[in-house]
Parts: sequence; C-alpha cells; structure tokens
Amino acid sequence: MKYAVIDRGDPLSIELKEKIIKMAKEQGLILDQDHPDYVISIGGDGTLLKAFHQYINLIDDVAFVGIHTGHLGFYADWQVHEIDKLVFAMANNKPHIVKYPLASLEVKTTYETTQYFALNEFTLKSVNSTLVAQIDINDEPFEMFRGDGLVLSTPSGSTAYNKSVGGAVIHPSIDMIQLSEIASINNRIYRTLGSSIVLPKHHYLDIKNIQQQTILISIDHQAQMLTDLISIRCSVADCKVNFARFRSFPFWDRVRDAFIDSNSLNT
Ligand code: NAP
Repeated sequence: MKYAVIDRGDPLSIELKEKIIKMAKEQGLILDQDHPDYVISIGGDGTLLKAFHQYINLIDDVAFVGIHTGHLGFYADWQVHEIDKLVFAMANNKPHIVKYPLASLEVKTTYETTQYFALNEFTLKSVNSTLVAQIDINDEPFEMFRGDGLVLSTPSGSTAYNKSVGGAVIHPSIDMIQLSEIASINNRIYRTLGSSIVLPKHHYLDIKNIQQQTILISIDHQAQMLTDLISIRCSVADCKVNFARFRSFPFWDRVRDAFIDSNSLNT
C-alpha cells in the first residue's frame, strides 16, 4: 500500500508526520506523495480540506485518513496517541470506504467555464456592495437575492459555515446540496425565501450575476475575486470523496461532541 502525508505545518503535526513515516516503513507501507492509495492528513479539518484539493485529480483512487492535533475534527478522527494503531491498521486491515458527496460548481465567466469541486462549501459575496443575484432552479427563476452572501454546502460541510448561518445539519449519506442565505434583505420590496433550501442530486441551481458585480467566491478554504462572473451552476457532483475507516466514526456522535455540552443531557 502507498500513502502520502499532508501536515498543518505546526511543530506537533510535523513531529507526528516523521513518526508515522518511520512506523509505516517498519510496517512495509510505501511513501508516495504523487500516487498514494491513502492520504493521511495531520492537523484539523482545515488540513483535510487542503489535502482534498491537493489530490482532487486522483479523487476516485485515493482514500483520506485524518489525524487531529487539535480538538476533535469532523473529517479527522484519529488522535495523536493512536498513530501506532492507525499505521498497523493501514498495513494489515482492509478499511471500510465511506463516500461523501461533493458539490460541483461550473463557474462561467466572460471567456471560460471552469468546473470546481467543494468538500465543505462554496460562498459568494459582493466585494463592495450588497450582493444581488438571481437564483434559478432547474432553469426556472426562483428568487432575487439581496444581502451579504450565499453559502452552498455539501452534507459534510453542513456543520461548518452553513451551520453558522442557520442552515440544517445533514447526514453525509444523503446526496444533496444546501443553499443558505447570509443576512438577506427582506421587506415589502425585496423578498427571498429566507430559509435554507435542499436540492437532490437530479436538480441544479444557477446563481446569476445580473448586475455584473465584482464577486468574491470561496471554495472551501480558497478565495478568489472575479470581475467578469456571469453565473455559477451548482449541483451534486458525480464523483465523491473516499474516507478510509478502520473503525466506526458515527456522524451524530461527532455532531453531539462538537456542539452539545454533555452536561446538558443530564437534566
Ligand atoms: P479557519 O477559519 O481557520 O477554520 C474554520 C473552522 O471551521 C475550524 O475550526 C475548522 O476546524 C472548522 N471546520 C472546517 N470544516 C468543518 C466541518 N466540515 N465541520 C465543522 N467544522 C469545520 O479556516 P480553514 O481551517 O481554512 O477552514 C475553511 C472552512 O472554514 C470553510 O470551509 C468554512 O466552512 C469555514 N468557515 C466558517 C465560517 C463561519 O462559521 N462563520 C467563516 C469562514 C469559514 P479545524 O480547526 O479542525 O480545522
């Protein structure tokens, strides 16, 4: 088995990386940063997002494993003191492969259309004024959005930015994308639905830059400014991301542990 390692760059993550490389060699695993079977991410969920984008071209062939060196992660399930168990399992056990849906974005500008994939979400904001965007669903006009911005999240990204703006937390076994609003202007003149909407795999949503605004888009951790954006078509991607599970890591346990104080269950 071949593996690659991506670390957050802090002293603990770098130290762990070196330990893992040594242990993996003893277990007969081969370090191959270019064509791995497993990608080990050491850091937090942000590190896993970076690893995902680094290996996006091999997305069908690699499986990700996350080690968290901070608090419990949504993508990173192994803890620092467990790395020997993890390396042994990678060398000797067959993992259960869990597949999470991704969002597909076709970003159309004046000269080209580029496809991107998001593991958490994509956000859209206007650089210097209120964002005005027409939203169509399956080619039918749905609403005219005015406000601070939009968040289009995947199920596994639903616990990240999407949750901060009031979107629903969605189990990653469901093939869907969710559109949530950031501070929409709602009054007698301007009106949006106001709540998040969830689209199934066979539907698509177009966000149209009808006022030719300069737009800031971010895909997971990466942001870029577009001066010639025409529209963005959003849908559930045909491809998925693979996670190698060597033990169970229930999603609802992660949600409870991350967001709910266990003491609150006692009353
Ligand atoms: P960051 O600003 O350094 O970290 C954002 C936080 O989001 C970190 O605590 C990160 O966990 C956590 N996170 C990432 N993915 C998550 C997920 N799927 N579920 C729950 N929490 C998650 O930025 P970053 O590390 O480069 O990560 C980029 C992400 O930050 C974006 O994809 C976006 O979701 C999130 N973000 C959130 C807000 C907000 O909530 N208002 C605003 C901007 C960006 P770790 O510490 O384990 O890395």
